[in-house]
Amino acid sequence: MTTEWHNKTAREIRDAVRDGAATATEVAESYLDRIERVDPKVQAYVDVWRDYALSRAEAVDHKRRKDGALGALAGVPVGLKDVFCTRQGYTTCCSKILDGYRSPFDATVVERLDTADCVFLGKLNMDEFAMGSSTENSAVQPTKNPWDLERVPGGSSGGSAAAVAADACAFSLGSDTGGSIRQPAALSGCVGMKPTYGRVSRYGLVAFASSLDQIGPLTKNTEDLALVMNVICGRDPKDSTSADIPVPDYTAALAGDVSGLTVGLPEEFFADALDDEIRAKVNDAVKTLEEAGAKTVEVSLPHATEYGIATYYIICTAEASANLARFDGVRYGYRAPETHDMRDMYVRTKSQGFGAEVQRRIMLGTYVLSSGYYDAYYLKAQKVRALIRRDFDAAFSQCDVILGPTSPTAAFRIGEKTQDPLQMYLSDIYTISANLAGIPGVSVPCGLTESGLPVGLQLLGKPFGEETLIRAAHAYERNRDFDMGRPPLTQGI
Ligand code: GLN
Repeated sequence: MTTEWHNKTAREIRDAVRDGAATATEVAESYLDRIERVDPKVQAYVDVWRDYALSRAEAVDHKRRKDGALGALAGVPVGLKDVFCTRQGYTTCCSKILDGYRSPFDATVVERLDTADCVFLGKLNMDEFAMGSSTENSAVQPTKNPWDLERVPGGSSGGSAAAVAADACAFSLGSDTGGSIRQPAALSGCVGMKPTYGRVSRYGLVAFASSLDQIGPLTKNTEDLALVMNVICGRDPKDSTSADIPVPDYTAALAGDVSGLTVGLPEEFFADALDDEIRAKVNDAVKTLEEAGAKTVEVSLPHATEYGIATYYIICTAEASANLARFDGVRYGYRAPETHDMRDMYVRTKSQGFGAEVQRRIMLGTYVLSSGYYDAYYLKAQKVRALIRRDFDAAFSQCDVILGPTSPTAAFRIGEKTQDPLQMYLSDIYTISANLAGIPGVSVPCGLTESGLPVGLQLLGKPFGEETLIRAAHAYERNRDFDMGRPPLTQGI
């Protein structure tokens, strides 16, 4: 029997391809076969690039045969959230308005993965334009949580999380504006990191809210996280917001331990809204870190949880209303048929092309930026944002990392929150403030609920403190006394 490469981590695959224990082609075939078996149930992919994946894999194998010098992720099969511009296939953000749109260029992160000799499997499902917490806002299909197919995988990078959980790619990339990497990672039982604002180039990431968006990896473990971060981070002349700060070797952080590390526990993150089972799992993780030598201290983030959601929904909708203005039926994708003048064409294109949540946000954003309300809403939100940043500065004067839950609940049922946008917005209560403050965060699985659903532990770090986060997350992963296992429903498929 051939080795089932889809069970392996990115590091294991890379090593096997480099050493000649596997060819990139057999690894790619193993994953393509896996996708064929599991994806009809999970629905993580919106486009599978079979031929392209095999030709990329052959190119990697050819390179090895010729001179043997292979990239840091040689032969590793990756899935991309459909928010990244790719010359291959379509770039639609799972919106009807970008139906049939092909990008003439690759996003910088895609180029970097290409240089590292990754094999691209295709595009992954997401909430339309990354707006949502369940992937139910996709215009294409809902994605199912591999741990329970009746539940959501989280969102907006739900396809990216579900594909990793279902072994339908070795790792994936997502984007996080208010929690969209960390929350689906938590609900689907994988590791997901939102780096510091400016750590990763966003050239070729379709913009949702430009002062909040960041790209990051979703992986099976923290070792793979470090490997991928090494490849995607760093200054890019094509993105003026990317920071000119040297990129450390994140894999070196894997050797560190947590003795001497101070972990801050914000009282607000453990308040009543938190589900009891989640609280218990997160408290177990605190104990694990303490036993491994970390110190804990109580900290406070008074503005972050109280005002985070309200502030976020003013700023992100304002920015989205400006960013999405470009989808007007003229330059990209869909145009409404049979319109009688330009204005009518705009109105019909946008009404037909954007889904309900995107329309709601464009209207809200236009409202908070309108002349009579700008000071009352937008300007006020910017001031509160500064207070939230100060909360973190004060907390980080007492600790090295901040610990809490990633999400207030485990995966919820498909359809459970679609009628109530405010309930849906609350899914990000613990993740959103990191985007407002621009700081990095990571979610690591910390156990399963009674009903077998993954729980995520969130660690937040100082700006450009990804190394410390990886060190702490890896130390936790090494020291926890249980094995997360794999999603039962996708085993034996
Ligand atoms: N769920 C949040 C929203 O709907 C965050 C989305 C994201 O991070 N892209 O805006």
